[in-house]
Amino acid sequence: MSMIDQALSANATIARGYDPSRGNPPTPKIAMVTCADPRLSGIEQMLGLAEPDVDMIRNFGTVIDDDAVRSLVLSTHLMGSREIMIINHTDCGMLKFTDSDMESRLRKETGQTPIAPAKFYSFTDAVANTKEQIQKVRSHPWISPDVPVRGFVYDVKTGRLSEVFPDGKPATG
Ligand SMILES: [Zn+2]
Repeated sequence: MSMIDQALSANATIARGYDPSRGNPPTPKIAMVTCADPRLSGIEQMLGLAEPDVDMIRNFGTVIDDDAVRSLVLSTHLMGSREIMIINHTDCGMLKFTDSDMESRLRKETGQTPIAPAKFYSFTDAVANTKEQIQKVRSHPWISPDVPVRGFVYDVKTGRLSEVFPDGKPATG
């Protein structure tokens, strides 16, 4: 049985104990961008945040790309999020390859050169990368200057966050 089939079977049983209040309209207070890495799943609990308070935006590498910006704009203008947290992490898979190596490998394996994705956004330094992502959000004309944008690196070995300050100054938004 595939794992998806197992999950569907489990869902039929687990849903019997579902709390219907989880279906109430969400009222997020923070928009969070983090990595799709499974070690970041459930990070709200590590931060003492309730799930309904967080709009969770995840992708490979905690990248502020077109789609992450789309979600951040909607979260802050439509859903009511008032702060933005960007959480990179140690030991990210995006540190372990380069875009050009990955492109070469895929071209070789498939014999194809598609138009997208234009970039994989691999990086070599989680702190420097986080600064870049903060700057991308902070400079966006549709993200209000009233919304604090703060970045962090999550240590997967300790569960602790370290704040990253662009330009070495406290990022108070
Ligand atoms: Zn990662």
